[in-house]
Amino acid sequence: MTFCYKHLLAVVTFSILSTSLSANDKDKKIPALPVIDSTTVYQEFLIDESDDLMENHPAGDIYNNIWTSTKLNPYKMPIDSLPDSIRIDLSQFKVPVKGHITSKFGPRRYRYHYGTDIKLFTGDSVVSSFSGKVRITDYDRRGYGNYVVIRHDNGLETVYAHLSKVLVELDQRVEAGETIGLGGNTGRSTGSHLHYEIRFLGNAMNPEKIIDFEQGSPFMHEYLITKNESFYYQKAVKAMAAAKYYKIKSGDNLGRIAARNGTSVRALCRLNGISPKKTLRIGQRIRVR
Ligand SMILES: [Zn+2]
Repeated sequence: MTFCYKHLLAVVTFSILSTSLSANDKDKKIPALPVIDSTTVYQEFLIDESDDLMENHPAGDIYNNIWTSTKLNPYKMPIDSLPDSIRIDLSQFKVPVKGHITSKFGPRRYRYHYGTDIKLFTGDSVVSSFSGKVRITDYDRRGYGNYVVIRHDNGLETVYAHLSKVLVELDQRVEAGETIGLGGNTGRSTGSHLHYEIRFLGNAMNPEKIIDFEQGSPFMHEYLITKNESFYYQKAVKAMAAAKYYKIKSGDNLGRIAARNGTSVRALCRLNGISPKKTLRIGQRIRVR
């Protein structure tokens, strides 16, 4: 059964409004209406423990009842503060779309790729990996395109991006294997594919270490999240954030670039995987740190 908080909120607001409008006799003292801040009401619904959607929902505790449709990672939970190990039940997993991997989780030229790209055709059904509740449906022109974020009962969150069509609504309850949208090529995407992410408390994990995409099933029925293994990539992310690039100008050579940036030709070559004899092109970017 799905239950829409927004509609309920609208009903509450409307009934307050209609009460005050019907009191058209100005002289007659009407009892003061309690001031209800709509955000507070909404928050109360969300943290209401009798909420049947979150009942027996371990994710509710893990996420400290933070539920927002505006941010992919509102938790800002540093890896160090995570519990040492968390067991995640993967037994009901359904592969979001059958297809081969076109781009892996890992570093890209100047940024990090926090998901796994799977080839599909525009219009192919994309399904939810596990049961859960839709937390975000949004459109991000420069990034994800049309995308959906689902909070799962097992504690994970998954992201489905570049969809041509979203078929679920915010706060909607979904089952494992239920179609949530159609594949596409929206946002920053070249060629139809699904960008698929698996996150825990906002932190991305490498889906290829959890799911065997060739088989369309998890490697194990249970996945043990540990700081070192599940978030191994964070060191690389920090190194990338610290990386500095230099744009090659007319008259530059490796020696001059090294001197100007307080490094050596050897270090430049190692960092960029190039030979000291490499021909430099004006406008090209070279990593100096
Ligand atoms: Zn991607």
